[in-house]
Amino acid sequence: MSRRRFLARATGIVGVTAAPMAASAQQISLPTVKWRLTSSFPKSLDAIYGIAESIGKRVAASTGGKFQIQVFAAGELVPALQALDAVQNNTVECAHTAPYFYFGKDPTFAFGCAVPFGMNARHQNAWMYYGGGMALMRDFYQKYNIVHFPAGNTGAQMGGWFRKEVRTIADLKGLKIRIGGFAGRVLAKLGAVPMQIAASDIYPALEKGTIDAAEWVGPYDDEKLGFYKVAKNYYYPGWWEGGPELDLFVNQGAWNALPKEYQSILEAACAEANVLMLAKYDAMNPAAMRRLVVNHRVQLRPFTREILEACWNAANEVCAEEAAKNPEFKKIYESWKPFRDDQILWSRVAEQNFDRFMTSAGAKPAANR
Ligand code: CA
Repeated sequence: MSRRRFLARATGIVGVTAAPMAASAQQISLPTVKWRLTSSFPKSLDAIYGIAESIGKRVAASTGGKFQIQVFAAGELVPALQALDAVQNNTVECAHTAPYFYFGKDPTFAFGCAVPFGMNARHQNAWMYYGGGMALMRDFYQKYNIVHFPAGNTGAQMGGWFRKEVRTIADLKGLKIRIGGFAGRVLAKLGAVPMQIAASDIYPALEKGTIDAAEWVGPYDDEKLGFYKVAKNYYYPGWWEGGPELDLFVNQGAWNALPKEYQSILEAACAEANVLMLAKYDAMNPAAMRRLVVNHRVQLRPFTREILEACWNAANEVCAEEAAKNPEFKKIYESWKPFRDDQILWSRVAEQNFDRFMTSAGAKPAANR
């Protein structure tokens, strides 16, 4: 008698040994769940959009295909900047989005993503997972009927594409710029005209001259969106986004209805996404930056000290003004700010000195060897 036939006779199930049978029985007891996820990003941006598909694949693979999350790009079901409303109203069960897109509803959303001169990706993770950020944001998001999970980060962003050079504060006056979230309010204080425009609509606005400047993410995405064709000055750093967090927003009722096992799997898939998106951007950005500079003759330009200091002062004023009138903002700001300052204190001892050495004597970029 073959081993297979012997096992079949012994277990009563053809081709299934004892251990898989236990797993199979468990899966049978769990329900089939089908969710829809709306992304705030277009399919062409494989890092920021693609991570939502990775979450769906991980969840399906971990549940024997019983928990399916179908991913829709921005605009397929819901416009990019209305993802929160769609989850809140249970039009879809979940969304992958940047919380600061909803800054207009309440600036407190920015803490769940990026605040000007805020945290880098590591600091943001430290605050969210171990610094009280998760509980504070969960509490805030309750009234929007959502549960959030950190699910991606771009790392420090570029300052964006400017048709003309900007050197002084005077150069910012009247500047029409596409910029995300909180930073718009800071730049408005300095006389600029900020606009929040979804990814796919930025290029035509910049090409037509409806706007004078636009920021999106960094070299890997920005190259695909083609901004270098219509604006050659590529500024850095994106001081408003040292490490913006992307989130999976889940409808509270849909979350509560999930079996505990699926909740755990989804939470783990988001934590995995939080690592993988940053890794992908970090892996892809150097070559994209080289192509932009060498092939497309883009001018990399640092923001001047004058501009950075004016923006720093304006950002602190905006935060203080908001804290004075918005109790929820104030509550989170008072946890977030000392945590950020402590992170910088620690970073400047080891991390910054390591980085400084590596970018000077220690290691030369490949192009300079
Ligand atoms: Ca951005």
